[in-house]
Amino acid sequence: MTRLYDSRKRILVTGGAGFLGSHLVDRLLEQGHEVICLDNLFTGTKRNIDHLHNHPRFEFMRHDVTFPLYVEVDEIYNLACPASPVHYQHDPVQTTKTSVHGAINMLGLAKRLKCKIFHASTSEVYGDPHVHPQTEDYWGHVNPIGPRSCYDEGKRCAETLFFDYHRQHDLQIKVVRIFNTYGPRMHHADGRVVSNFIVQALRGEDITIYGDGSQTRSFCYVDDLVEGFLRMTASGPEITGPINIGNPGEFTIGELAEKVLAKTDTKSKVVYHDLPQDDPKQRRPDITRANTHLDWEPKVPLDEGLERTIAYFRKILPELELV
Ligand code: NAD
Ligand code: UDP
Ligand code: UDP
Repeated sequence: MTRLYDSRKRILVTGGAGFLGSHLVDRLLEQGHEVICLDNLFTGTKRNIDHLHNHPRFEFMRHDVTFPLYVEVDEIYNLACPASPVHYQHDPVQTTKTSVHGAINMLGLAKRLKCKIFHASTSEVYGDPHVHPQTEDYWGHVNPIGPRSCYDEGKRCAETLFFDYHRQHDLQIKVVRIFNTYGPRMHHADGRVVSNFIVQALRGEDITIYGDGSQTRSFCYVDDLVEGFLRMTASGPEITGPINIGNPGEFTIGELAEKVLAKTDTKSKVVYHDLPQDDPKQRRPDITRANTHLDWEPKVPLDEGLERTIAYFRKILPELELV
């Protein structure tokens, strides 16, 4: 491979056409790397990477990570997996296969190439937590047979595989646990609370709060999250994770609805629906580890991030003919 810079790497990003993956791909290209963006386009979209098609260091590969993959790269970011409850519950068996078989294949690839591999795990490994805020040494409170289990247990098993490949095959792993993240390029119909509320408000539809809106989440803006990913990968080999990456600012879902209403100048009204089964009551990351090991903390406040996300949906919805 011809290298213009010693530091230039060829990097594989699985799930690269998704919400988080596409932002990561942008940053890696900005840093001067070559990127293979792999995706089966199940929940991701070509729209997220349209702007990159003529980029000389960008390559798109349509592939499903549940099948083996033979490419030659220097580093792997494994993000492939549907992430919103609506999407991951659409085909739960495929969700578990993507997490588990996908992890095995990407770990097998990393083992053959002897390369570093990053993995996007999730705060869902903590389930409906009994420890608050969640620290990485908390083992979680997860229902193994409920509607969220395909994702939660799939992601837990993927973490197990990462740590076993690390112990058994001396693989350099980088596991982060991502807390709720939002921003431009979220899928407009993924059912997640931030995209739902914004899309509903911009269309003048009812804002659907599930339950009484007292459950909490902590929302991280996508740019902050991607910065955390890059710092994690750049950290020394002794840093394997798991490391929480998220914004510790905690809000009730009712508060989020009020913010979106105030920022969109909409006629929408709040309506209350049943709370889905196994919906976690509260969630907030303890980011001491990320702070200590990666010198990372989020910078974008929720108000600012919401405004940027609203601006994105204002632009995109007419293009999708959804307003
Ligand atoms: P997303 O749905 O936008 O992106 C996932 C991408 O993976 C999509 O482009 C999808 O088409 C692709 N994909 C799914 N199954 C695949 C398969 N079998 N083979 C190849 N590609 C496949 O979701 P996202 O929010 O960008 O999430 C990315 C990763 O981050 C996921 O692993 C998710 O579990 C994790 N995560 C995200 C959040 C969040 O708040 N966004 C929180 C916790 C964890
Ligand atoms: N694998 C892959 N690409 C590679 C090497 C391996 O997709 O370059 C897949 C392969 O299909 C295998 C899995 O990764 O099933 C796990 O590989 P590993 O070497 O750990 O296991 P083994 O091949 O011994 O079962
Ligand atoms: N939620 C809601 N209205 C919606 C979508 C979600 O009240 O239209 C709630 C949901 O029940 C949960 C929280 O918002 O309590 C976050 O949901 P999301 O699906 O975004 O993420 P997760 O539950 O995986 O954290």
